[in-house]
Amino acid sequence: MLKRYLNWFDNEPADELLSATGSSLQPKLVALGAMYPAKRAIRSLCVTCGLMAVRQMQEYDDHALVCVACGGRVEVWPADMKMRVRHVWLPGELAKRLSDTVPVVLMPNRLWRLAQVSIRQQSVTVYLLRCTASPHMEPVIAALERDLAGRQVVLTTKEEFPVELSDGQRLMIPLSRVARLEAEGLEFDYETFANTVVPVDALAVAAGRQRRWFKLSPDGSRLRLQDQELVLHRKQCRFVLAIAEAHDMGEERPKQSWVLDRSGHSRENTSLKQICRRPEIARFIDWSQGEVAIRKVALPHDYNDAETAK
Ligand SMILES: [Zn+2]
Repeated sequence: MLKRYLNWFDNEPADELLSATGSSLQPKLVALGAMYPAKRAIRSLCVTCGLMAVRQMQEYDDHALVCVACGGRVEVWPADMKMRVRHVWLPGELAKRLSDTVPVVLMPNRLWRLAQVSIRQQSVTVYLLRCTASPHMEPVIAALERDLAGRQVVLTTKEEFPVELSDGQRLMIPLSRVARLEAEGLEFDYETFANTVVPVDALAVAAGRQRRWFKLSPDGSRLRLQDQELVLHRKQCRFVLAIAEAHDMGEERPKQSWVLDRSGHSRENTSLKQICRRPEIARFIDWSQGEVAIRKVALPHDYNDAETAK
C-alpha cells in the first residue's frame, strides 16, 4: 500500500488531480487523511484562448467559472471524480512517529526536516525527500547543507535516488525499507531504521573519534581539553559541533566560512567574540588566518586576550 501511495505522492505537479479509480485503497487513504476526498470534476474549454483544463468543483457553480489563464468565458463538461494527494500528511505522520514533533518545510512539497533523534548517543537529523522526476538535485543539496550541522539521514520516497545526494555525512534510506502503510495508519519500524543508521555511522565516527584530542558532549554544550572545560549555549554549541564534524572528516582546521555556514552563523562574524562574548572561548578555540580549530591544550586563564582573540 505504501508504494502505491508513494507513486501518487511523487506525481508532478504536486496538486495534480488523479482519477478516483473506485478501488478500495483510496477511501482508506482518505480516512487516514493521506488524500483529499474525491470530488466532482469538470473539464473546461476557454472560448477566448482555447485553454483546456480539468478542475475540481469547489464552491462555484459551473456557469460562474472563468478561464484560469485569461479570465475568459469557458464551456464546461462533467468529468470523472478526481482526487488529490494531501502532502502534509506523510511528513506529519513520520515526524510524530520519530519524536512526536511537527515537521519543518525546507522546500515546499519537496523537502521536510522531520525530527532530531538520538541513536546510541548520537544525534541525527532526519528528513523526508519527495523524489519527483526532477533530475536537479542542487537545490536539495543546498537546502540540506544550509540546515543544521551534524549527521543527516534522508528518507526518500523512491528506492533509487541520485547518488550525489549521499556523502560521508549524509545517509539516504528509502522510506519503503522502514515504513509500511496499513488501513490503520503508517507503521514506522524504528528498530530497522536505527540499525540502518548506526553501522554506517559507527565506522566513520570510530575513525574520527580516535584522532580527537578533545571531548565534546553530543549536544555540543561541553568542550573538554584535559582538565579544562568550556560550557557553551544554544548556537555556540552548533559552532563547536561543526568544527568537530570537520575534524572527524579529517579536516582539523576547517575554513571559518565553512564553519559559520554549517552552524547557521552569518559570515559577517569576523571574530570569536561575535560567536561567544566570554573571552574564555579563545582559550579553547583558535580562530586565525581564515581557519578555525579546537586547540590541543587550553591556554592559561591569564593569556593575552589582545594577542589571541584577533
Ligand atoms: Zn482563456
